[in-house]
Amino acid sequence: MTVAAASPFSLKDFLKSFMLFELFKGMAMTGRYAFKRKVTVQFPEEKTPLSPRFRGLHALRRYENGEERCIACKLCEAVCPAMAITIESDVRDDGSRRTTRYDIDLTKCIFCGFCEESCPVDSIVETHIFEYHGEKRGDLYFTKDMLLAVGDRYENDIAAAKAADAKYR
Ligand code: SF4
Ligand code: SF4
Repeated sequence: MTVAAASPFSLKDFLKSFMLFELFKGMAMTGRYAFKRKVTVQFPEEKTPLSPRFRGLHALRRYENGEERCIACKLCEAVCPAMAITIESDVRDDGSRRTTRYDIDLTKCIFCGFCEESCPVDSIVETHIFEYHGEKRGDLYFTKDMLLAVGDRYENDIAAAKAADAKYR
């Protein structure tokens, strides 16, 4: 027994197409919004508000006395689903463990925020910075010094975002 395949075209579809129904529907939608208040933001002069949890460029933070927060536990490296973080560590003369290398390859990073969530000392964070670029692949390979420099420069903003978010945790 053979089963006839259903026709992909119906009379209703044919008439709608013939009468340009979709075109007029689209024009009606355009007409409805033509005189409403404009919601387009004139970026970069105008910007929309960012959540304290916004996940932008990474930074490594220090304590107020200038000491690096990172204790080289490597939790962030282990949790990173993109394997974008590379850490090497050593023990200092005073017995404390610190990273000798902390790199993030931002071409691999998917900005999931897992590294920040996993860090026990709030060292690695994702800032509100999203206006950055690289002109070649290597420009987006951030070393420890680069990450610390971002942290030093934006520490006030990072601390304010952390404080704003704290009550929701
Ligand atoms: S944001 Fe996610 S993908 Fe990017 S470095 Fe952190 S854990 Fe890895
Ligand atoms: S940034 Fe945080 S999670 Fe990553 S190694 Fe340092 S202390 Fe551990």
